[in-house]
Amino acid sequence: MAMFPRKTSTPAKPETPIMFDKILIANRGEIALRIQRACREMGIKTVAVHSVADADAKYVKLADESVCIGPAPSNQSYLHVPAIISAAEVTDAQAIHPGYGFLSENADFAERVEKSGFVFIGPRAETIRLMGDKVSAKAAMVKAGVPCVPGVEGALPDDPKEIMRIAKFIGYPVIIKAAGGGGGRGMRVVHTEAALLNAVTMTKTEAQAAFNNPMVYMEKFLENPRHIEIQILADQHGNAVYLGERDCSMQRRHQKIIEEAPAPLLNTKLRDKIGERCAEACRKIGYRGAGTFEFLYENGEFYFIEMNTRVQVEHPVSEMITGIDIVQQQIRIAAGEKLPFRQRDIHFRGHAIECRINAEHPYTFVPSPGRINTWHVPGGPGIRVDSHVYANYFIPPNYDSMIGKLIAYGDTREQAIARMRTALSEMAVEGIQTNIPLHQELMQDAAFVRGGTNIHYLENKLAERTKGK
Ligand code: ADP
Repeated sequence: MAMFPRKTSTPAKPETPIMFDKILIANRGEIALRIQRACREMGIKTVAVHSVADADAKYVKLADESVCIGPAPSNQSYLHVPAIISAAEVTDAQAIHPGYGFLSENADFAERVEKSGFVFIGPRAETIRLMGDKVSAKAAMVKAGVPCVPGVEGALPDDPKEIMRIAKFIGYPVIIKAAGGGGGRGMRVVHTEAALLNAVTMTKTEAQAAFNNPMVYMEKFLENPRHIEIQILADQHGNAVYLGERDCSMQRRHQKIIEEAPAPLLNTKLRDKIGERCAEACRKIGYRGAGTFEFLYENGEFYFIEMNTRVQVEHPVSEMITGIDIVQQQIRIAAGEKLPFRQRDIHFRGHAIECRINAEHPYTFVPSPGRINTWHVPGGPGIRVDSHVYANYFIPPNYDSMIGKLIAYGDTREQAIARMRTALSEMAVEGIQTNIPLHQELMQDAAFVRGGTNIHYLENKLAERTKGK
């Protein structure tokens, strides 16, 4: 197999695509294992990089090679760019898969990877930069014909009078959002003019501290939207398709906990229309790889909020209903292959639901790291478990509390829910606390079962629960 040229100033881009021999996975946890599985199926060797805290992880042991890149804190390991690049150099990996979180949406990292002669499995650095800034992303989407939340284009000016004028023009309530924001942080809702200027100042200060960018913008605060997102795949030859939508409205503090595909009660004509717009936007901006357009959906309208330029936690539900392996497609696209299907070849079949299993108290949400002494996962028709943990695994306290994802597929939504209920009842995790009881409650919840709950549903339900105590 031909080798990719290394250490050239221009990244390797073969005329005839040649699949990689070896990929370095710059991530940890379930997604590291997920990427590794995709590679093994394709006959690609893998390099696991890990912190000292993850030395015993399953995917580290299963990888063809592993390199310890630093101590437990992420900024000294999973976010330490020179250590990751050196690991790729010493192992002769040809491409780097960033997974989600960590460096996956860091344009400087993508640039460093390609400048060092490796292929970055994701979009070009300039695309990540464009979409990473919510103000420029929104402007690009408006230009590409994707509907956005009503607001005023561009960052907020400094002049207080001007800020008040903009808020009045949009109409209260408004939301002030950090251009560089992410992870549900850097947002503030404002209901009255009296609270406006203070909220803007506070969000700016917070944005500077958290994202090193004080730029904020303003848009209409939608009162009761659902969160519906479109998964896309785009190759380097101008082809782009959408793999349907996911409903991720079950959230707490802007963090998703249950995702499903398709979105309940959504008109498929509307879905196809917005999906086609997203695919078209990808063609227009020369997008490469897998990506997600996130929308708020209210009264039959979609409003773009942001684009994620990477694989998402919830990608399995789209895989289940389309039969397409999104991670493998990411790798194939990065290697220069053409998408093997067109939009008309993609069929949505059945329904899939994902429950994120977190090591935390089900109702106080306090993280619960530590040793897992019992770990029994469910099985049976339509059940998929994506997890890196096992009995006797020690969950390090340094990272995200998600320890796995339980996915249930059925011909109908009812069947998927029924299978999820059974799967949750079979799942046994001891030694730590998990949010399984919360998922069990939600799978019996009348509003969830009906489908179409909005993004505030879970918070309101939890608040009622606390009041009732
Ligand atoms: P992040 O990048 O931090 O995830 P997003 O822009 O994706 O930020 O927004 C995260 C969540 O915040 C959304 O899923 C929604 O719950 C809420 N949100 C964001 N913008 C609005 C808005 N204009 N109106 C109502 N809720 C919003």
